[in-house]
Amino acid sequence: MEELAVFGGDPVRKTPIHYGRQCIEEDDIAAVVEALRSDLITCGPRNEELEEKLCEITGARYAVAVANGTAALHLAAMAAGFGEGDEVIVSAITFAASANCVLYCGARPVFADIRPDTWNIDPESVERLITSRTRGIVAVDFTGQAVEHDALRRICEKNGLILIEDAAHAIGTKYKGQPVGSIADMTCFSFHPVKTVTGGEGGAITTDDEQLYHRLMRLRTHGITRSQEEMVHPTDAKWYNEQVELGFNYRMTDFQAALLLSQLNKLPKFAERRKELVRKYDQAFRDMPEISIQREIPESDTVRHLYVLRLKPDRLTCDRRQFFDALYAENVCAQVHYLPVYWHSYYEKLGYVKGLCPNAESYYEEVMSLPLYYQLTDADAEDVIRAVNKVVEYYRK
Ligand SMILES: *Cc1c(COP(=O)(O)O)cnc(C)c1O
Repeated sequence: MEELAVFGGDPVRKTPIHYGRQCIEEDDIAAVVEALRSDLITCGPRNEELEEKLCEITGARYAVAVANGTAALHLAAMAAGFGEGDEVIVSAITFAASANCVLYCGARPVFADIRPDTWNIDPESVERLITSRTRGIVAVDFTGQAVEHDALRRICEKNGLILIEDAAHAIGTKYKGQPVGSIADMTCFSFHPVKTVTGGEGGAITTDDEQLYHRLMRLRTHGITRSQEEMVHPTDAKWYNEQVELGFNYRMTDFQAALLLSQLNKLPKFAERRKELVRKYDQAFRDMPEISIQREIPESDTVRHLYVLRLKPDRLTCDRRQFFDALYAENVCAQVHYLPVYWHSYYEKLGYVKGLCPNAESYYEEVMSLPLYYQLTDADAEDVIRAVNKVVEYYRK
């Protein structure tokens, strides 16, 4: 048997390959340069164009561009009216920001378990957690796969809850043919460089609700309004604006909006390549007894942000840490998404204990995300597959 690089053998690849990276092309750079030469470099015409483009892609009536995905979640949670004494149900397997936005509002995140095979929030777990204090759900389209909207909508309608969809992974994904972004009460996107399209930093909220839209726009700029209808002391003086509530500066610059517009034009080709790579990986790993792959619900037409490899510990002599380190030594630099949010020491200090979400916890112990991005070549993907095969062979029971 070939010796693993971690024990001194030759690595599958000479150069490291990372789990994600942006694709910035010359026309993206030109778009940014052009924006920098214009009069308005923040919150100008390109922000408006970006918002129109997001409406076009998602089918939502309104879009609000913001500084990043976390700001999008924060504003959505505020606009939802979450506050002191409220409970909001959040997926346990997600980036901490999905739950932090609830804390920002003084409300308490309550963590729902994931399904053991799709790894998305389990509507049955959500239902069990509902109390008289529950106000909403933050559901994450994990890896890009749409959450079970039909089930979640039934729960929300029955209990009067607001659904915020954290679609940071899921731009381009559809549920029953309908684009993510036009389904939940509010949908939040992130345009961080590892995501499918990027603005360097960037985020957005989409909604069909006019009132939520106006509130989000106001909160994005300090809670200040120029609309007489929203003022306590209305006047038609041209210089007058009024702060009517406590908001933030969560604006996006116009050169970031320019980059995002250029990137969004490429979403179809980015999405297609990601789907191709997912098919390639699935084909390679589907029949390996040591590995499980993510189950896709038929309703979701998924643009994947992450490709997760899940080990079957009873089929291997190594644990996840050893497997991960071995892959790393082969120069395949995986990552782990995610620690159950309530395992973070900050949440531990808030009183959350281990054992809350057993599926999420065993998921976390067994997974790693493989390289997945637009510019990953077929040869790169084959290297990744060879490296996984090599490590599996070495540790096979
Ligand atoms: C990236 C991400 C965020 C945060 O987005 P930023 O733009 O980095 O603030 C929130 N939720 C999920 C699930 C993410 O992956």
